[in-house]
Amino acid sequence: MNAAAQVADALGTRRHVLLLNHVSPDGDCLGSTLALARALWARGQQATVGSADGVPGMYRFLPGAERVQRDIPEGIGVDAVVFMECSTPERAGALAARAAGVPLWINIDHHLSNAGFGDVIYYDASAAAVGELVYPIVRTLTPAIDAGTATCLLCALLTDTGSFRFTSVTPRTLTVAADLVAAGASPSEVYAQVYESRPATALRVMGMALSRLAVSPDGRVAWTVVTQAMLRESGATMEDSEGIVGELRALAGVDVALLFKEEPDGIHVSLRARGGVRAHAIAEAFGGGGHAAAAGFTGHGPLDEVIRQTLEVVRRELGVAAAT
Ligand code: AMP
Ligand code: MN
Repeated sequence: MNAAAQVADALGTRRHVLLLNHVSPDGDCLGSTLALARALWARGQQATVGSADGVPGMYRFLPGAERVQRDIPEGIGVDAVVFMECSTPERAGALAARAAGVPLWINIDHHLSNAGFGDVIYYDASAAAVGELVYPIVRTLTPAIDAGTATCLLCALLTDTGSFRFTSVTPRTLTVAADLVAAGASPSEVYAQVYESRPATALRVMGMALSRLAVSPDGRVAWTVVTQAMLRESGATMEDSEGIVGELRALAGVDVALLFKEEPDGIHVSLRARGGVRAHAIAEAFGGGGHAAAAGFTGHGPLDEVIRQTLEVVRRELGVAAAT
């Protein structure tokens, strides 16, 4: 039995499944947990979706998003837990504690840095989105996918592939997307909801961040910051800073783009890379993880110091990439 069938088999016989997102959840993670939950609901099974950081505004249109829980009471009696895109259980944040004592742990991921924990592991780094892995599970659980579930999965695929233009896109990605569109999902609608429904504050904070752009003398590294002071001045939330690092990556000649976000618990660093540079290797040096093209970690200490230390590791990785 392949891993997707194994997960479908394990989930199909459960009474109540807990589906956990990682902290700062993205469209892939939320779309995938919601699609699985909707499949279980359609079968009359219980499913609870947890997200320690809630649902960012741009993903609240997802059918079922209103049922995602930030807090989950202890002892709700689930008999399986799914960790979605969590390289370690801790990536689920405060909700990771709800998995303690649950008899079956299922780990579904496509990140390079997955630690391989759990009783059932469904891991495939060749998937452009984890939604690509979740699709066959959903198909097995509910052979007739409804339009709402198809929308959740299409959001997963579309957001993790830069709207189907990253190098990670394969025939499988597009075949799954075609099935989802046939099931009633609309790419233009999902795109408009996620990327064309932004508040003015998001553009204001992006303007501030772009005006503070720094580029290394050789042009290969670009970075900028979003500080708490910038958020106060623009009226934006940190969620509104989504998209800034992608703009930096679009600079000619840039191999590594970085965004340093000043958050209460440390400096969240978003990395984007191309040209054979491994973003996850840089992030792993600081306890984070991700993919070769997109990764992240949380740095500790003053902003300037985190920037200095990170750029040092970026330099080292650029050397490694040049030598291979
Ligand atoms: P972001 O910059 O938040 O869009 O994250 C880029 C990629 O890196 C996503 O696939 C994240 O799941 C992953 N990532 C970000 N931060 C971390 C972290 N602290 N640990 C592991 N993976 C991370
Ligand atoms: Mn993903």
